[in-house]
Amino acid sequence: MATLATPPALTRADFEPVIGLEVHVQLLTATKIFCSCANQFGSAPNSNVCPVCLGMPGSLPVLNRKAVEFAALAAMALNCRVNETSIFARKNYFYPDLPKGYQISQYDKPLAEHGWIDVACSPNNATGGDANGTKRIGITRLHMEEDAGKSLHDGFADSASKTAIDLNRTGTPLVEIVSEPDLRSGDEAYEYLTRLREIILYTGVSDGNMEEGSLRCDANVSVRPRGQEKLGTKAEIKNVNSFRFVREAIAYEIERQIELILGGGTVVQETRLYNSAEGRTYSMRSKEQAHDYRYFPEPDLLPLVVDTKWQAEIRSRLPELPEARRARMVAEYGITEQDAGVLTASRTLADQFESAAKAAKNPKRVANLVQGELMGRLKAAGLEIEQSPVSMAGVAMSADLVEEGKISGKQLKELYDICFAGVAQSENGARGEDFAAVYEREKPQQLSDSVAIEKIVDEVITASPKQVEQYRAGKTTMMAYFVGQVMKATKGQANPAMVNEVVGRKLG
Ligand code: ADP
Ligand code: MG
Ligand code: ZN
Repeated sequence: MATLATPPALTRADFEPVIGLEVHVQLLTATKIFCSCANQFGSAPNSNVCPVCLGMPGSLPVLNRKAVEFAALAAMALNCRVNETSIFARKNYFYPDLPKGYQISQYDKPLAEHGWIDVACSPNNATGGDANGTKRIGITRLHMEEDAGKSLHDGFADSASKTAIDLNRTGTPLVEIVSEPDLRSGDEAYEYLTRLREIILYTGVSDGNMEEGSLRCDANVSVRPRGQEKLGTKAEIKNVNSFRFVREAIAYEIERQIELILGGGTVVQETRLYNSAEGRTYSMRSKEQAHDYRYFPEPDLLPLVVDTKWQAEIRSRLPELPEARRARMVAEYGITEQDAGVLTASRTLADQFESAAKAAKNPKRVANLVQGELMGRLKAAGLEIEQSPVSMAGVAMSADLVEEGKISGKQLKELYDICFAGVAQSENGARGEDFAAVYEREKPQQLSDSVAIEKIVDEVITASPKQVEQYRAGKTTMMAYFVGQVMKATKGQANPAMVNEVVGRKLG
């Protein structure tokens, strides 16, 4: 009897995860994509609607020029090529929040293609990171489409037995940004989303607010044996509502698929939902039941032409993007990459920092104070930097006071504590106080009386004969000891520049 050679069994480490993301971003235009209804979150249900966005027969869509410009600007910021001609298409499916029975989207001729985002990773990592610790994630396409309405399952009188529909959101302009299957872990997906959101926010075309649904993400996940070119069967995890949950959902899904295959099963193509409370994904529907959307060109809209001239106009409105800005700030202000990363987290913050740094005597000190004094206090108070009681102008002012020796580092810390004291005590979101106000009121007593300082320096020198001997024998680092003693004797209130000068003179 012939025995068949059994292939070596695969282990968990033999599998490579593959992830591609589809991100929907709502554009912040004043009006909707095909009608003049207000494009506004939070209005009374069904108040921003008209025959066009309600999908009444016979109504005609008219494309919003601003929506095209916003979409093209986002595409350019994501390094995509904008097609001169793109085509709107009907994507047909039934859903209660889709009164027309189809969604106007783009299909085989999208607005833009061939983009990329560079994400940070460990240098030369196994998944394609380069020597500088960056990995380029491809963007397949960016297309325009309209949003659907919203089904409401709770929050009104008979919501236990009924679902209500709010159609304010129908016709909100969206861009869908589809990545190549270049991501290899939940962490990489998280990094990609963070960079993507940051770039979108810099362009100003969206507020990127996940709670309000302005940014939504579907994650496609598969695994394959390492070395295999062909992609494995994917599961699509729908509508995860925070980047952290996307990371968790992907990590869970990778494990689930590997376990399934190792146990002799096969992954089926399906849509899954993530339950963040349980940290698991659940099957929602299989692709077999999924729709054939019967796409066809939208007969009520002409092909969209964004010619070279219009593209150039749009491109001229591109702001400096986060990555370029970080590099420039490192060069211009002598700050670290890490400082620059924190200080460019939003465009407003970066603007504020730059104006503070330009106004201050020493930009590096401004950056250090942001990192050293501000960030920790913000974190402890649970605040974003945009909500900081101490403004960037306040940080610049404090930096100059220290720079000029008008206050000590210890006094600065105390002043920052006072600025934040209101925040810690308030339960109703009181904002604390800015630095200038606190400084004017507290005006810390800086000991700048040279006679008094000389007296204290004399006392310290008399009390430290051994250290004086060491200093005079050439151990100049003892200087710090003497300055420290004087500062201690004055509870940190002596003018550090004067102390240095006097100690140096007396010992020298
Ligand atoms: P669909 O037609 O099912 O929407 P697409 O080809 O349009 O699939 O791809 C949608 C997203 O899924 C893209 O981000 C793509 O990179 C990703 N993707 C496609 N195939 C796979 C796969 N086998 N594993 C992981 N991601 C995938
Ligand atoms: Mg898709
Ligand atoms: Zn309308």
